[in-house]
Formats: sequence, structure tokens, C-alpha cells
Amino acid sequence: MSGRRTEVAIIGGGLSGGLIALALRAQHPEMVVTLIEQGEKLGGNHRWSWFDSDLDGAAHILLEPFRKTCWQGYDVHFPAHERQLRSDYRSLSSEDFDECLRRELPADSILSGTEVASLDASGVDFADGTRLSARAVIDCRGAVPSPHLEGGWQVFMGRHMRTATPHGMERPVIMDATVDQHAAYRFVYVLPLGARDLFIEDTYYADEPTLDRSALSARIDAYARTNGWEGDIIGHETGVLPVITGGNFHAYQAQQRIEGVAMAGARGGFVHPLTSYTLPFAVETALAIAHDAQLPGTQLAALLEQRARRHWSATAFYRLLGTMLFGAAVPEERYRVFERFYRLPQGLIERFYAAHSTLYDKARVLVGKPPVPVGKALSALIGPGRPLAAPQEKK
Ligand SMILES: Cc1cc2nc3c(=O)[nH]c(=O)nc-3n(C[C@H](O)[C@H](O)[C@H](O)COP(=O)(O)OP(=O)(O)OC[C@H]3O[C@@H](n4cnc5c(N)ncnc54)[C@H](O)[C@@H]3O)c2cc1C
Repeated sequence: MSGRRTEVAIIGGGLSGGLIALALRAQHPEMVVTLIEQGEKLGGNHRWSWFDSDLDGAAHILLEPFRKTCWQGYDVHFPAHERQLRSDYRSLSSEDFDECLRRELPADSILSGTEVASLDASGVDFADGTRLSARAVIDCRGAVPSPHLEGGWQVFMGRHMRTATPHGMERPVIMDATVDQHAAYRFVYVLPLGARDLFIEDTYYADEPTLDRSALSARIDAYARTNGWEGDIIGHETGVLPVITGGNFHAYQAQQRIEGVAMAGARGGFVHPLTSYTLPFAVETALAIAHDAQLPGTQLAALLEQRARRHWSATAFYRLLGTMLFGAAVPEERYRVFERFYRLPQGLIERFYAAHSTLYDKARVLVGKPPVPVGKALSALIGPGRPLAAPQEKK
């Protein structure tokens, strides 16, 4: 591999890296692009979901080649409120992500099972000591904890289950918060993937980034039992995602920056601070990169930094809500914030998930009888946040 050259090197074949490669392929089929992933499969072990309303027309076109599961409408359940919403919901598995990218991209543009040891503005060095030179280098290696960001955590385990008999569910349940809260904001999320296939995820918004696999697995067992679902376990996925409530984004960028290297995906800061979702922003960023792909790498890096700073400014409202969620409500009462939120109009809820809330939406979310004590909310807003330390696994 020594002495090899590419035009654009993308490091990390996860969601953002894969989408950038796909967008480049669609808009510049002649461009030599190399997507480098340390794992054998692109996309790791994930299931990504999103609302149709998160995306615009160009974004829908980029996602068109992927096999997806689609639903019309979804439900939410809270102790004092239930609702069916009409928004369309989509889900993509990492197996389908990998399959699609291998179909759409030239075979020699994907280097999977290949770890990058270091990168700089003019290329990447591999763990085996060889180098790939590039005109532009894009770092998509995924989220990193940073003392410059503050907040809490969204911890979850999802289980794909094949039920012995048809489960009868027609629509996803995006939040079932009628379950025991276990000192956090906890909810169960269920996707009916097929007549006998379910994806059941137990999620909680926690102060600490601790993943307790056996506790989460036991809670999924209990939830399945309560609903009368029996069957085989097909697989699991887990996540400990930062819920960003504040911090110094300039300092974060300075910490991550490799001079002249563009940074995208969760590492670049393209996340929804409160839901930790990145898919809508990963699609937008991929399209923006494809639009400016002829630029020298250093200019692309500067453009993406600016774009990330604009995203940070535009998402301040969601960090404020996160601050109130973590700081103002005792953990057992945090669900009330979402229970109240889900009484608001469907359009407002859609814009919230897309991180496109209008001024009027923001006012609607904040005014009225607060679901948490006002005094605590104010002290949460004034007080210092918790630095986002590295996730841990409970032994
Ligand atoms: C289990 C799970 C479920 C999620 N569900 C959703 C969802 O439903 N909707 C949503 O919008 N968001 C979801 N998220 C959040 C977020 O969208 C994902 O984390 C998303 O995958 C982030 O994309 P990314 O490209 O930044 O990072 P990743 O997808 O994590 O990709 C980074 C890639 O870089 C590779 N890599 C790292 N270092 C190197 C190296 N040195 N050399 C080569 N390769 C390297 C990694 O192996 C990895 O494949 C989920 C997250 C998790 C963990």
C-alpha cells in the first residue's frame, strides 16, 4: 500500500463516513475516494432510525438506495398521557448499510478491516506502517468524550427478537415511559420490524455513563414478558451517547483538530444535543461535502469547522432543555418533561427532532405550567454542568 494515492480519504466507515462516500459517488462519480474502516463491516452494529420530517428532498434521495423499514405513525405512552402521532418513521440496520455501500461504491474504494494509526492533512498512516496520500482527509472516527463538553448520558440496550407467534404491533412505540424509572428518565422503545420481528430497546437518561448490560437485559426480558412476547433473541446493540447540555465548543474543536483535516459526524459535533441522534445532520453534512468536494482539503476542513460552529449555535435551545432535564427534575420525575412535550402539536414535535424549532415552538415548549420546579430549573441553568467523561461498563 506504500506510496498509494487517493483524492479523498475518509477515515471511519460508520454512518457519517459511509454517507459522505455515497454522496461523493453520486455527485462526482469520477472522483477517487477511499473509505477506511477498522471493522470488517461498515456501520458497526447499529440500527439508525429517524423521522421522515427530519430530512429534505435531497436527503431523501441520498438515502434512497438503502433498504429501510418504514412506518406511518407511532405511539407514545406516559403515566398520564398516551398519543398516536402520524409522523412517518424509518429505520436502517447496519447490515443493510454495509450491503448498500458495497453495492453502490467501487469495490477498491472500501478498505475495511484496516485501522488508521494516524492522519494528517495530506494522508493517513496505517497500523502496518504503510501510507495513503490524499488531497483531502475527512475524519469520521466517531464521538469522543471531552472535558470541554458538559451534560449527561443516554444509555441503552436494544434487542432484536423473533417472536414465536405474530406480535400484532403495527406501529413503533417511540417512548413507553410507563415503566419503572429506576432513578433516571427511562423508557422503552419498540420497533415492529416484521410480523414476528421486534426491536426492543431499554433507554435511560442518566447522570453517569455506566452501561449495566445485565440490568438492561433483565429489564428487556421483563418488558417482553409483560407484553406476552416470547421467542428467540437475534442480536443486541448497546450505546452510551452524550447528551450535551453545554460546554466550550471552540475548546472542543481545538482539542480534536488535526490541522487541515476535515471533521464530520459525531466527532465533528454534528449531533442533536438532547436526543444524541446524528442521522439528519450526517446526511446534510455529506451533501455539503459533496457540493464542495473539489476544494483543497484544508479549505474543506475550515468549511466544516464553521459549519459545526453554526450547528452548535443553532442547537443552543436543545442544550438548555437538556440542562433543565438533568438539573431541574429529580430523576424519577424527569419523564414529566417529555410527557408535557408530547401534548404539543405534531409539527412542533417534528421540528424538535429535526432540530429546526422555530422561535414560536421554543416559546411553546418553555411557557405554561412547568413540569419541573421553577427554582430548581433556574439554579440548573446558572450552575456549572458536568464534564462528559469516558463511558464505563458495569462489571
Ligand atoms: C447503538 C446505537 C444506536 C444509535 N441509534 C441512532 C438512531 O437511531 N438514530 C440516530 O440518528 N442516531 C443514532 N445513534 C447515534 C449516532 O447517530 C451514531 O452513533 C452514529 O453511528 C454516529 O456516526 P459517526 O459516523 O459519527 O460514528 P460511527 O458510526 O460510530 O462511525 C465511526 C467509525 O469509525 C471507525 N474508526 C474509528 N477509529 C478508526 C481508525 N483508527 N481506523 C479506521 N476506522 C476507525 C469505527 O470503527 C466506526 O465504524 C446511535 C448510536 C448507537 C451507538
